[in-house]
Amino acid sequence: KKLGGNRAIFFSQELANQNERHRLIANNVVHALKNNEYYIVYQPIYELDAKRVTSYEALIRWESPLIGTIAPLDFIPLLEQNDLIIPVGKWIMQEVVGQIAEWDRQGKSGFHVAVNISVKQMMHPDFIPTVKEVLTVSGIQPQRLMFEITESVAVQNIELAKFALRELNELGVQTALDDFGTGYSSLSILKELPIDHVKIDRSFIVRMETEGDKSGIILQGVLDIVRNLGMTTVMEGVETEAQLSVMKEMGAHKVQGYLIGRPMIGKLAIDLQDEEFPF
Ligand code: C2E
Ligand code: CA
Ligand code: CA
Ligand code: CA
Repeated sequence: KKLGGNRAIFFSQELANQNERHRLIANNVVHALKNNEYYIVYQPIYELDAKRVTSYEALIRWESPLIGTIAPLDFIPLLEQNDLIIPVGKWIMQEVVGQIAEWDRQGKSGFHVAVNISVKQMMHPDFIPTVKEVLTVSGIQPQRLMFEITESVAVQNIELAKFALRELNELGVQTALDDFGTGYSSLSILKELPIDHVKIDRSFIVRMETEGDKSGIILQGVLDIVRNLGMTTVMEGVETEAQLSVMKEMGAHKVQGYLIGRPMIGKLAIDLQDEEFPF
């Protein structure tokens, strides 16, 4: 009983710490942009036929001197709630196009970089003008830039998603449907949306390993459909060589995951352009 009592104290302390952390996060998320606490990391995406890294995904990081490292899923929803995702989202785009321009000057150019956009950003009337502006200011070729919108966002706002994607296509930037297979969309969304790439969610790989054959057949089906519709497939969350060789057999175009590389600072990410991979 005594132990149980202690445990209750321990848990309530833990909960209090957690609430305190949430409060700190909410209070500091506003100043983090001004204080330069955000930075961008780049996760490599490997193209199986080309045998090299042909794109990167830009992912935001927050390193607070007060709270420590905060995962994007712990603060992006907060940024969305109070519309801070608009200025922060613009900052992300500026950072990424700036990095691409810098890499161009270093003669590194055979790849593109994907930026995640949230629903609030996509719905904002300034979204397309902002994209135009950052492209013009940076002077990079639009094809170097890609935007990822998640399947769930696209499904909930199908007309708006179509409109935004069409505008992006017109600007010449690439588009991807992210986290495919996590929502409750039907496959017909693939023919409705003007997208270049489909990123298939990591959960497919996990299920294939834990549940076996039937999940593998479904994954193969999804890869075939996407490819036959003329889009590129990107498999997320590839962590082992075994998973990579399955993806090769299944005919995926690209893989992303810890096996290829973790999200990393730009300097390290660009070095992968010259790397020879053993796959
Ligand atoms: P996402 O768009 O699906 O991004 C991929 C996430 O999977 C990243 O987590 C990445 O670190 C993680 N990941 C990559 N490879 C592996 C792997 O092999 N195994 C496992 N277990 N995980 C892997 P991260 O950076 O924590 O981002 C989480 C989510 O937060 C992203 O999911 C995205 O929805 C959102 N996010 C991150 N950066 C941004 C951003 O700049 N803007 C917006 N709007 N959302 C962002
Ligand atoms: Ca993404
Ligand atoms: Ca994803
Ligand atoms: Ca995912």
